Amino acid sequence: MNDDKHYDSDEEIKDAQDKKDAKDEKEETHSDYEDVCFICRRPESKAGKMFRLPNHICVCDDCMHKTMDTVSQFDYQGLLNQPPTDDGDGRRFPNISFVNLADLQGDGGIPNKQKIKKKKRSDDKPEIDIKNILPPHKIKAKLDEYVVGQEHAKKVMSVAVYNHYKRVATGTMDEIEIEKSNMLMIGPTGCGKTYLVKTLARLLDVPLAIADATSLTEAGYIGDDIESVVSKLLAAADNDVERAERGIIFIDEIDKIAKKKNTNSRDVSGESVQQGMLKLLEGAEVEVPVGANSKNAMVPLATVNTRNILFICGGAFPDLEEIIRQRLNKRTSIGYNAELRDKYDKEKNILNRVTVEDIKKFGMIPEFIGRLPIIFTLEGLSKEMMIKILEEPKNAILKQYQKLLELDEVKLEFEKEALEAIAEKALEKDTGARALRAIIEEFMLDIMYEVPKDDNIGRVTITREYIEGTGGPIIDIRSNSLEHPDRLNVIEGGAAR
Ligand code: ADP
Repeated sequence: MNDDKHYDSDEEIKDAQDKKDAKDEKEETHSDYEDVCFICRRPESKAGKMFRLPNHICVCDDCMHKTMDTVSQFDYQGLLNQPPTDDGDGRRFPNISFVNLADLQGDGGIPNKQKIKKKKRSDDKPEIDIKNILPPHKIKAKLDEYVVGQEHAKKVMSVAVYNHYKRVATGTMDEIEIEKSNMLMIGPTGCGKTYLVKTLARLLDVPLAIADATSLTEAGYIGDDIESVVSKLLAAADNDVERAERGIIFIDEIDKIAKKKNTNSRDVSGESVQQGMLKLLEGAEVEVPVGANSKNAMVPLATVNTRNILFICGGAFPDLEEIIRQRLNKRTSIGYNAELRDKYDKEKNILNRVTVEDIKKFGMIPEFIGRLPIIFTLEGLSKEMMIKILEEPKNAILKQYQKLLELDEVKLEFEKEALEAIAEKALEKDTGARALRAIIEEFMLDIMYEVPKDDNIGRVTITREYIEGTGGPIIDIRSNSLEHPDRLNVIEGGAAR
């Protein structure tokens, strides 16, 4: 009888526990965010398991103990660490009921989100299934849909990314450690460096942070800390540390942190930044503020391991061509080939011949280049490529405008010569494909303004004259037969440019 009663009460406790489990699990799926200690502001991953108090207050083990020690001289630590007694109660004083802090922590098998998260991290379990990683040719095919030309760059990147995620998936647990596939991309401005990385991150569905090396300075100086790039990535991953740890960080304008020549002062935004980035590139645990740019007392911190973060650095390296040319010319000026001295002066794609030595000479420190094992170049855009960029990619600018006008049931067409004229104008500006949009927006403004005014307009054809400001577009009226288009200068001022 007595036994029965005891059993009953156990059952009740178990029921209550189960209900609590279910509730906890429900809450857990609702929130993927870590708890932060109410006293020291450290997150759970940093401070260890939290005690959950009423009103969603969490306190870490350290702070709880400090508080307890202050309140009473009683040896809580000793009490908690003591092995359980035979009755399973674990309490030394039968008449005094102490709250067992370990129970509050959920050690008795209570599932909670922290436990799941930690397990994943400490086990080094692959979160990416190796079978789901896109093979290089498929990655490249996807890139082809958006990025025009740059065949070599796309190929190198596809292979590097494939290898990188293979490395992440296997967790490099065996003796053969696969090296990180951090990349350095060299190419003139507006040739698609950022665009390539953005496209890549989107198709791989990983978070991406884009940072500008010019704003980075050594910690403690005005500017962004080097670690702020990881903070950005964490924000891009919605503060999910695990997702961030598989993301991509793109650092643009990397050539701007070359060693400054002839300086006597401390190079806080050049060489020091390179030095500071070394450990990030290689893989390190960094403590970054969550939801803020700087660390301070009120901001919770998260620890992010950069071991599996793919770093891609990009830059235009303006004087690099000259350095390569000098090296090549020096070689040919000795011995039999001396007469070929100027052979390389006119070579167009001289950047393709870049070596690590050249980049070192440019001002990047050897340790830094050593951590970017995959170096490749992108070509400057030619007129033909510009035209392709206008019309071919999945989200090409022209397609976007055509779609917009289609909604007004107006067909928008571009004569081939018009496209050439746009490309020529863009080439003059020397900012790569970035100039295209600006030019198109300029002349499309009038069209987008005027066309909806007149319901009769059925088709607009952009001509070279219109782009060059010497004529207007061809407007076809809906009721007219489209075979006999009238060249009308409907759009006032369209030619006056
Ligand atoms: P950068 O090399 O300076 O990083 P971006 O990648 O930012 O240049 O290019 C600017 C814009 O030009 C992109 O947003 C993209 O729309 C377009 N663009 C540049 N290169 C290409 C390309 N090869 N294919 C398609 N679009 C391109």
